[in-house]
Amino acid sequence: MNYRGHTNGMSILPYPTPLKAFAERLAGSLLPASCLLCGADSGKELICAACSADLPPQPQHRCPLCADQTTHGERCGACLKDPPHFDVAVAAFRYDFPVDRIIHALKYGHQLAVAGWCAEQLIRLLTDRSFDRLVPLPLHQERLRERGFNQSGEIARKLGILLGTQVDIEALLRTRATPPQADLPYKERQRNVRGAFECRSDLAGQHLLLIDDVMTTAATANECARILKMHGAVSVTVAVVARALKD
Ligand SMILES: [Zn+2]
Ligand SMILES: [Zn+2]
Repeated sequence: MNYRGHTNGMSILPYPTPLKAFAERLAGSLLPASCLLCGADSGKELICAACSADLPPQPQHRCPLCADQTTHGERCGACLKDPPHFDVAVAAFRYDFPVDRIIHALKYGHQLAVAGWCAEQLIRLLTDRSFDRLVPLPLHQERLRERGFNQSGEIARKLGILLGTQVDIEALLRTRATPPQADLPYKERQRNVRGAFECRSDLAGQHLLLIDDVMTTAATANECARILKMHGAVSVTVAVVARALKD
């Protein structure tokens, strides 16, 4: 796989701001003709069939609530001790190479075609469910300004089109910038996100789908679900492109 060589020519680093709008328009107007991972001809697909078949799957046995790996598919220790506020979390892949690179290309390379690909991966997990609204996990204003867009919002927008479901980008606000969860010891992650979100919508009676790119621990999704339910949501399903496993 010549993944590294192939991406050298691609925009993995953020564009300087004046070029961003132009670059995004350009990226949106060009259909990828070669696989993002190996560079082989992939027709109109972002990832070729061979690379798609090789993407890291979810573990066979996992917690029915938070999708972390467990020995026999039983509830994990964390969910037994403290059941999450969301109803269930589903993930398309394990967060591992090369899914991490694909998400990186969206987040830092502004390759918005990746958002469409992510939405297509999620829709396979959601065929038997329906939702009143999709809610993307919000970025803090500061981070939004740095990055120029919210990757979860982009995925939600594409998924909303595919599902024919309204996307509510204002249901959740991130009122406090928090250090990245991945930088923190496991036990501090719940505290790190506590009080970091606000909701200004009336969600009474709503069945929600909360969208994020990666779930590192369930702490962030759990805090969001807590707030959404406090504002009336009946159920919160979490859908992420990739789920990091504890070890
Ligand atoms: Zn490929
Ligand atoms: Zn669990």
